[in-house]
Amino acid sequence: MPLLLDTKVSELNKVGKAMSSRLKRLGIETVRDLIFYYPFRYDDFSYQAKIKELEPGAVVTVAGQIELIESKRSPRKRKIITEALLTDDTGTVKIIWFNQPWIGKTLKAGDNLMVSGKVSGDLFNIYFSSPNYEKMTQERTNTGGLVPVYPLTEGLTQKQIRFLIRSVIPAVESLPDYLPAGIISNEKLWSLGRALREVHFPASAANLRSARYRLGFDELFLLQLWSQLNKKQLKQERAPAVSFFPEETKRFVSQLPFALTADQKKAAWEIIKDLDRGQPMNRLLEGDVGSGKTLVALLAMYNAALGGWQSALMAPTEILAGQHYKNIAKLMEPWGINVGLLTRTQKLFNGEKLAKREFLKRCREGGLAIIIGTHALIQKEVEFKNLALVVIDEQHRFGVEQRKALKQKAKGQVPHFLSLTATPIPRSLSLIVYGDLDLSIIREMPAGRKEIITKVVAPANRQAAYEFIAGQIAAGRQVFVICPLIDPSDKLGVRSVKEEFEKLDKQIFPHLAVGLLHGKLPSEEKERVLGDFAANRLKLLVATSVVEVGIDIPNATVMMIEGAERFGLAQLHQFRGRVGRSGFQSYCFLFSDILDPLVLERLNYLAVCHDGFVLANKDLELRGAGNVFGAEQSGFLNAFKIADLGDLGLIAAAKKAAEDLLRPAGDLADYPLLQNQLKSLKFSGHLE
Ligand code: ADP
Ligand code: MG
Repeated sequence: MPLLLDTKVSELNKVGKAMSSRLKRLGIETVRDLIFYYPFRYDDFSYQAKIKELEPGAVVTVAGQIELIESKRSPRKRKIITEALLTDDTGTVKIIWFNQPWIGKTLKAGDNLMVSGKVSGDLFNIYFSSPNYEKMTQERTNTGGLVPVYPLTEGLTQKQIRFLIRSVIPAVESLPDYLPAGIISNEKLWSLGRALREVHFPASAANLRSARYRLGFDELFLLQLWSQLNKKQLKQERAPAVSFFPEETKRFVSQLPFALTADQKKAAWEIIKDLDRGQPMNRLLEGDVGSGKTLVALLAMYNAALGGWQSALMAPTEILAGQHYKNIAKLMEPWGINVGLLTRTQKLFNGEKLAKREFLKRCREGGLAIIIGTHALIQKEVEFKNLALVVIDEQHRFGVEQRKALKQKAKGQVPHFLSLTATPIPRSLSLIVYGDLDLSIIREMPAGRKEIITKVVAPANRQAAYEFIAGQIAAGRQVFVICPLIDPSDKLGVRSVKEEFEKLDKQIFPHLAVGLLHGKLPSEEKERVLGDFAANRLKLLVATSVVEVGIDIPNATVMMIEGAERFGLAQLHQFRGRVGRSGFQSYCFLFSDILDPLVLERLNYLAVCHDGFVLANKDLELRGAGNVFGAEQSGFLNAFKIADLGDLGLIAAAKKAAEDLLRPAGDLADYPLLQNQLKSLKFSGHLE
């Protein structure tokens, strides 16, 4: 039977039930999965030595003949020990394998053997302990050169998976390349077959680089195709044409207690132009904490309302939804725009409580122009009269499924989508993650904001920091304390909110009201704690990263972060943005029990840099793409096993290649192989 990509691994020789269920745990079900299961590193056994040259500690490969081999049981532990003598033309070396009884059965004296591993012992007694080995008649898989190391699961060995992958390499060689020939030659890429073979069993470091370049290009290119196809598809849908009301907008803006920043105006204009097009907008508004994104979104919602359309604003938490509601209802009230709040616990309409049924009725009949809420907004029972715009604050991008749900609510037309995010993403990454979105960026902060004084506090100065905090509280201010964990952990030695709460509440500030907030609390409890903090009944709030997004406590002036090394710079910057939201000078103190100079250098960078975009770039540079995003945002990174996301040139090349390919026809009808490959990657699953 020929090996096809879709052949199940369970049909391969030597793959029994147990093995196939282990492979399945790794996501490997077909030959395709196996082939695209890349090593995460390589053991470098390219140094080939003669036996006479061996030195303890060296990582080497030697070739020789087995002179003698025998297995015996160790007296105490009753384990099998296999010992062999290997000889080349310069000398003899001993090899010991522990607990691999089959070795004594498969190898015999006279066999020519290749052995790779670290040399053990001392100058007087040199030996190999459980090295990789291979008969010289076999294809080099575990020894010599660069040997692949794969992520494993229990019950599966490197040797087994190498063997399996080796066995499907012949299928790879004849694999039709899904990349069009033009792209391969333009980008000077290796063929797919060659790249796949060399990524598993590289003949040299240079070959490995070329192989990884090709496969990394593919990852980026395929994601770009996916994004651009999505974008094109959305452009074919119909959306309400929402007109711009210049006079009313001007009047509204002139009544604000501040002037819009130039970036706010530009972003608002980009959005307003999109809304009038009759095609769904799919735009991301990116701007640092406090840059005034809500107001930009409100300008769009206000225009929609003036035209008789409805808008929905979705926030990640009830608290945030409530805050948005309060602010927006106040701003809209003078202009006669009806604003409602819908969360699990609250239904408000222009400041009054409403029964749920009544609320839903007004939503359905159009009595509500701006509806603010949590995920409750996309429940089935919520219907709209004419939903034109959906704004999503601080959440994931909108998925295909959610879009579909909202499309139904919008009676067949797709509403316009605007996502707001304070997670600044380096340009290179936003091309990847948000390839299907249009971007508006606010870089400029409103005038008159005081810079938040940021300090890395050495353990010795902890007491002084507490005294400073006590002083701030005595002056009427409030304080956030962030900890990385909820529960105490013996293993990590990382501070947890529960411990810190106990300590601060009982020992450090016994006379002050201290609150505790974390994700595992019941939501009523969370609301209560935040309510108490907002009302200044609590002076300190000890919390996990739940306060990262959105909550607005202008009276808080100190952000104290424990275990700061556990967070990315961009995330720390987000925490910092929770203070400095008033005229009071604010402070951010970073604590770390790790005295590593590199850690300190990274944290100190935050003290001098107050630009979220620059910080995000620094994160990317220092810690890789995985750390630029919060854990739940980084799902998309699963799609990148090889691509170097810091390689701007590669990203730009992949993007352009995708654009060029789609330009003539707008789809992949002429490229069935590519289409198929795209389908097999299930990008949407990664992204939504
Ligand atoms: P974010 O971008 O973090 O969502 P918000 O929209 O919550 O920021 O704005 C933060 C605060 O700044 C709000 O109180 C808002 O009213 C205020 N604000 C918005 N735009 C400006 C501006 N141009 N000048 C001064 N203050 C502004
Ligand atoms: Mg906001």
